Amino acid sequence: MQKLRPLQLIIAILILHCNLFAQQKNNHSSQITLITNVKIIDGTGAAAINGAVRISGDKIIELGNLKVNKQEYVIDGKGMVIAPGFIDAHSHHLGDLQKKLSGLSTANQGITTIVIGQDGESYPMDSLEKDMIKIPIVANVASYVGHSSLREEVMGEKNVLRQATQSEVDKMKIILSKELSKGALGLSTGLEYEQAFYSSRDEVLQLAKVAADANTRYISHIRSEDVTLADALDEIIQIGKITKMPVQISHIKLAKKSDWNNASAILTQLEKARAEGVQITADVYPYTFWNSTLRVLFPARDYTNLASAQLAVTQLFDPSASYIVQYAPQPTYIGKTLSAIAMERKESEAQTLISLVAMAADFKEQHPGYKGSIEAIAAKSMSEADVSKFIQWPYSVICSDGNGGGHPRGYGSFTRVLGKYVREDKIMNLETAIHKMTGQTASYLGIKDRGIIEVGKKADLVLFNPETVIDHAVIGNSNALSTGIEMVWVNGQLIYKNQKATGLKPGVLIKR
Ligand SMILES: [Zn+2]
Repeated sequence: MQKLRPLQLIIAILILHCNLFAQQKNNHSSQITLITNVKIIDGTGAAAINGAVRISGDKIIELGNLKVNKQEYVIDGKGMVIAPGFIDAHSHHLGDLQKKLSGLSTANQGITTIVIGQDGESYPMDSLEKDMIKIPIVANVASYVGHSSLREEVMGEKNVLRQATQSEVDKMKIILSKELSKGALGLSTGLEYEQAFYSSRDEVLQLAKVAADANTRYISHIRSEDVTLADALDEIIQIGKITKMPVQISHIKLAKKSDWNNASAILTQLEKARAEGVQITADVYPYTFWNSTLRVLFPARDYTNLASAQLAVTQLFDPSASYIVQYAPQPTYIGKTLSAIAMERKESEAQTLISLVAMAADFKEQHPGYKGSIEAIAAKSMSEADVSKFIQWPYSVICSDGNGGGHPRGYGSFTRVLGKYVREDKIMNLETAIHKMTGQTASYLGIKDRGIIEVGKKADLVLFNPETVIDHAVIGNSNALSTGIEMVWVNGQLIYKNQKATGLKPGVLIKR
């Protein structure tokens, strides 16, 4: 090597110095962060280990017993738990995250990925992709292709209250196949809703076969959660059996009073199917009341039949504990129970149910361009024992089924499981609960690179205090923030700290 003369030496030192400086700057901009002094629950179900997690850019680069490096940003986890960011297996949060500046609904409960396109309703993958760029949000998004959306596109929005013809089914198959090739997770159906209620089993099966051929999955709000539940379960089990692809029951529940406390029998039936090779799983939210349109309270879609309304108020929901959470025709009804509204109207509860459905239908007729839901009810219709059993089932994962308002599940589902069901009721250990919010969810829904704390995986992380974590959202104050969720990272960026959004919006569209 040629000897350097003094001037060259000085220049060389200067260059070296500049390089080092540049490197430091780079390190800073690639955001190496060390989260030390934490209990790592990695999402696989394995026991917690004490250590640290190092993240760089959008990835986890090291974990275990790590020493602090110079120039990295260090966060003291103060002995709290770090887990993979929660994956909401069934979410309706997208609109809320796009609307509000903060994105608190998901972040406050530790959710870093929402899985949308549920209940048969989805957006085309191309428009989702454009939206994620145009309107950045705090969470990652993955989507199913919705059966009802396919029906509306092919048959026409106002023409779906019937079976599809074979040529219509063939058109749906082509669109479905295209969407799956663009990275959608699989096919979703919402067979209890009118847009799909009139579809035949064969129509659904033909589409399911397309999803199976593309090596994807099927997820379903099944045809009935109450009066014809047995038949609805049989349909999804058959789809799993014939197509051999994984099938998942959305927000599993027993919503008919005479079926209450029967969860074990349902789970035995599902396990029998599993033993026969059907890859059936379920997602569940931790509340005894659901949130939907009043119309689902008429399983035979006979909205003026007093006997049906009578069955609804006695068997399908508790009118004295069920609240109207949206009602465009008469906003003063919002926040009141159906019983209270019946008193006000001097009608029976059954008659009030009929009246509210009719008024909402008239409103829809008169306001064809009305955006958003016209009516919704948070209906008390499940038993606590069943909800616990479904959460405990080894093949269930946690979902919110929520959005940014109405039902408190939109803000509190995951923290409620951690606070109430794990810490207070002790129905399972923390590692199992986390697994059901992360690693197991990713594997059931076909999401790679996330859901586990492992070197090379995406840095979606949540730091929380297991001693204090709890939901606070309730009906009437459904946007109350959870406590105990200390920090949340999405793709390596801190999006939430001490009940406040940081303003960063690093969510990406996840493709299969
Ligand atoms: Zn649903």
